Amino acid sequence: MNSKIKLALEKIVGTTNILTQDLNPFNTDWMNKYVGSSEIVLTPQTTDQVSQILRFCNENALKVVPQSGNTGLVGGSVPIKDEIIISMRKMNKIYEFDLNSAIITSDSGVILENLNNYLFQYKYQMPWDLGARGSCLLGGNISTNAGGLNVVKHGLLRNYVLGLEVVLPNGKILNLLNKNRKDNTGTDLKQLFIGSEGTLGIITKANVLCIPIPNEKKVFFLELKSFQDVIKVQGFIKQIRNEQLLAFEFMEGKILHKNKHRHSGNKLPFEFQEDKYYVLLEIAGQSLNVDQFSLDMMEFTEEIVMDQSEKEAQFLWKLREEIAESMGKMGYVLKYDVSIPPDKFEWLVNEIYPKREGPFHVYYGHVGDGNVHINIVFESLSELHKEEDKIEQKLFGLVKSQGGSISAEHGIGQHKRKYMELQKGRDVLGCLSEIKSLFDPNGIMNPNKLL
Ligand SMILES: Cc1cc2nc3c(=O)[nH]c(=O)nc-3n(C[C@H](O)[C@H](O)[C@H](O)COP(=O)(O)OP(=O)(O)OC[C@H]3O[C@@H](n4cnc5c(N)ncnc54)[C@H](O)[C@@H]3O)c2cc1C
Repeated sequence: MNSKIKLALEKIVGTTNILTQDLNPFNTDWMNKYVGSSEIVLTPQTTDQVSQILRFCNENALKVVPQSGNTGLVGGSVPIKDEIIISMRKMNKIYEFDLNSAIITSDSGVILENLNNYLFQYKYQMPWDLGARGSCLLGGNISTNAGGLNVVKHGLLRNYVLGLEVVLPNGKILNLLNKNRKDNTGTDLKQLFIGSEGTLGIITKANVLCIPIPNEKKVFFLELKSFQDVIKVQGFIKQIRNEQLLAFEFMEGKILHKNKHRHSGNKLPFEFQEDKYYVLLEIAGQSLNVDQFSLDMMEFTEEIVMDQSEKEAQFLWKLREEIAESMGKMGYVLKYDVSIPPDKFEWLVNEIYPKREGPFHVYYGHVGDGNVHINIVFESLSELHKEEDKIEQKLFGLVKSQGGSISAEHGIGQHKRKYMELQKGRDVLGCLSEIKSLFDPNGIMNPNKLL
């Protein structure tokens, strides 16, 4: 990196907010699949610094990558080449929570879990939750329109973001902050930035509508004989308890069986057989009448396990949430998160690997939202790359044939970029590219991602 550029950037952020050594954690993504070669990481502390950085980079045609918790699973948060990384970790101030409106105002660099810890005193919580809660940041969540574990109950993140402050690539600060539940004053510009994966600007602050912590919650674990039973249970619960259903997660027995060794000191809810199917479901609200609920569930399963304490509930959730990380430890993982009708999940996986032969692979995920995660493990990165195109052309073609989406929640990043035309069609993609050119005519923001 040219020393003049370094000096200019250092002048903007100060010597303590520019890193030029030990950049591996910033250059490498969570899966160790995407590795960039940036030589500079900036950690601005104010919106004004972000603005000055972008203005300077824009004037000097320097490309940048906004980075939050770097837990993204599509290679969007790391550079492809030597783009400058703008890490938002130090913009971590929570300004206020207004108890009357239930709106939190915060910098974008606050860790999701810290937002919840702060809100706890008011008996409120953030309206979304995901396994990466201890590392992902508010701005990263908003930029990916993160889904997560409770979409089945609360719907999508974008419905809860009421206002944003965004710095455009030319350094202009766009004040879209808003604390009105209703603001019907024309085109809702902030929506463009939600889910745009850092390609249009950098989100620096947000107003988010929070939700009360439920009075009562209960986690259940079910063992089922077939995937069809999973679908039946889901349909049944949506009929009888839709308003209480907080999460409905499905897992194949073969991954829970493989992960048993991780819990030698703990009592597992089941033996976890490879050919069985498991559901974790959580209900929340008032007067849950859990005994009746368990009885209702017995129509579908011989055994049902219900948490007896908060600690047990956390353990049951851990079994579900550790799947992504445990697969990462087995090798190099191709990860897909597609939307298709839930009754097509099993069919889809069988189409990719007939008779379920091939490398170790499992499917699991948010059945309640029609969102399945398919993870395939390879011994080496080269083997993964050899298979990647073949699998994707087939998988995404099948997803499209069912009217589904190639990304339910993780986004596009660098991973799925070349399939955007398949998903969106030429006209829509052209329109999105025009919007990108309007905001970022010099193409400095997160280049070669998403579009
Ligand atoms: C264990 C695990 C579980 C996960 N579970 C889920 C899940 O259930 N649902 C789900 O949707 N995702 C899930 N993810 C993926 C990931 O956590 C989400 O995509 C998350 O929202 C990313 O947040 P982050 O702070 O890590 O952002 P990063 O990974 O740092 O960035 C993500 C994207 O946003 C851009 N960006 C980051 N900050 C800004 C900003 N301030 N302004 C503009 N652009 C920005 C980046 O350039 C990048 O393109 C999971 C990941 C892991 C590791």
